[in-house]
Amino acid sequence: MNETRRGLLIILSSPSGAGKSTLAKRLMTWDPTLRFSVSATTREPRPGEVDGTDYHFMDEADFKSHVADGAMLEHAHVFGNFYGSPMGPVKEAIDDGRDVLFDIDWQGAQQIRNSVLGVYTLSIFILPPSITELRRRLITRGQDSDEVIGKRMQKSWDEISHWDGYDYVLVNDDLDATEERLKTIISAERMRRLQQPGLQDHVRALHAQFEDTQ
Ligand code: ADP
Ligand code: 5GP
Repeated sequence: MNETRRGLLIILSSPSGAGKSTLAKRLMTWDPTLRFSVSATTREPRPGEVDGTDYHFMDEADFKSHVADGAMLEHAHVFGNFYGSPMGPVKEAIDDGRDVLFDIDWQGAQQIRNSVLGVYTLSIFILPPSITELRRRLITRGQDSDEVIGKRMQKSWDEISHWDGYDYVLVNDDLDATEERLKTIISAERMRRLQQPGLQDHVRALHAQFEDTQ
């Protein structure tokens, strides 16, 4: 285990279309040491999505057997499909001092906060500037049918209503500005006392030096 720093579990949530996947990709470019938690899902791949990179696509029976084996850190039913975060890669990364980025809904965020890893969690909620702009973004993303967009818009309030359970809340108006704010938050949170177990040894050494001077 890396004693200088413990990894953070960085959770991004938002109503669908507010921009969290775009922001997550930018953060991964900013800091290639970040590990993206590739979720398992029972939904169909969108055009361009790659199995194992964007999601682990699987059928419902497989998904349920992973849950039954205790292999999911959290899981939820969203827009008629199952989604979950596999536990193994997350534990491995944070033990190695790497931060893990999650693009998950409020139910998953709540489960992780309430898990044994909850103290290492940094949760950030992304709000759209307006509902009209949220719809516009879903339409211009051009990846969902009108029916799916309608479903996502209908569920948007359900997601937004959980905004106050998060550590930070950002309004994603200007993309570059939101990205900068995210980087600032992550840079600061990496210096939490709990994330730096190696500090104990440093303070012990300082104490010994202090005693020597008495
Ligand atoms: P989510 O992952 O939250 O569902 P996406 O990241 O897929 O949302 O973004 C939805 C669409 O909105 C994409 O086409 C993306 O390029 C666009 N988008 C994201 N953030 C902004 C922004 N600040 N201003 C304008 N368009 C944005
Ligand atoms: P999409 O189908 O647009 O990729 O994702 C739909 C919703 O499911 C988004 O709000 C996304 O954050 C959420 N989601 C994706 N993966 C997971 C996961 O592993 N767990 C949970 N709880 N939600 C997820």
